[in-house]
Amino acid sequence: MYTEDELLPISALQHFVFCERQCALIHTEQVWAENRLTAEGRLLHEHVHEADNESRGDVRVVRGLRLRSLKLGLTGVADVVEFHRTTAKPAITLPGIPGRWHAYPVEYKRGRPKPDECDAVQLCAQTFCLEEMLSATVNEGAVFYGKPRRRKVMPIDASLRAFCEETARRTRELLESGRLPEPVSGKKCKACSLFSLCMPTAGRSAKSAIRYLEQIAHDD
Ligand code: SF4
Repeated sequence: MYTEDELLPISALQHFVFCERQCALIHTEQVWAENRLTAEGRLLHEHVHEADNESRGDVRVVRGLRLRSLKLGLTGVADVVEFHRTTAKPAITLPGIPGRWHAYPVEYKRGRPKPDECDAVQLCAQTFCLEEMLSATVNEGAVFYGKPRRRKVMPIDASLRAFCEETARRTRELLESGRLPEPVSGKKCKACSLFSLCMPTAGRSAKSAIRYLEQIAHDD
């Protein structure tokens, strides 16, 4: 079990899955820069969190719920947690509200589904937190993508849970080491707000220059 002071933000896991260097730049070096994509994402989250909690038939909607898992050492904020009334087991009770319920996390993203697992890891990390905080079982959640404006349902299965736990362990290892991984330039760099600070291709040319100088010295 971790203490409150040792908790890592869930966002660090997303950043780690996207790019280990980006994760270390943001969470170790405390470097941040905003681009159009991050600004749009931030505004969307603010908009979702500002809306009131609501009740729609057999669904209660809670926004901006603070999350934490002492077992995994994570903390964060869920955009939306829906509580669906159910007769199935296992289920939980809600204070002052009759009936039995199960929790269903929903995360909001401005863009399209991504080719990597960073959204799934975020949803799974939220699931671990909800399960620990509510003594509940959560089997499924969803990510709402702005393009197209549709929910993608994500089963929180054993393989995703194992991947999420492993990602939490590796993220903690990286951040505790204080290490800054070398850039690995790729398609993802185009969407990265830290591109101009990271300079992924400059690193490669610097390395080739070093290799060139080493080669000259060797030839002499
Ligand atoms: S520019 Fe590329 S290598 Fe550098 S932090 Fe961003 S994604 Fe990672």
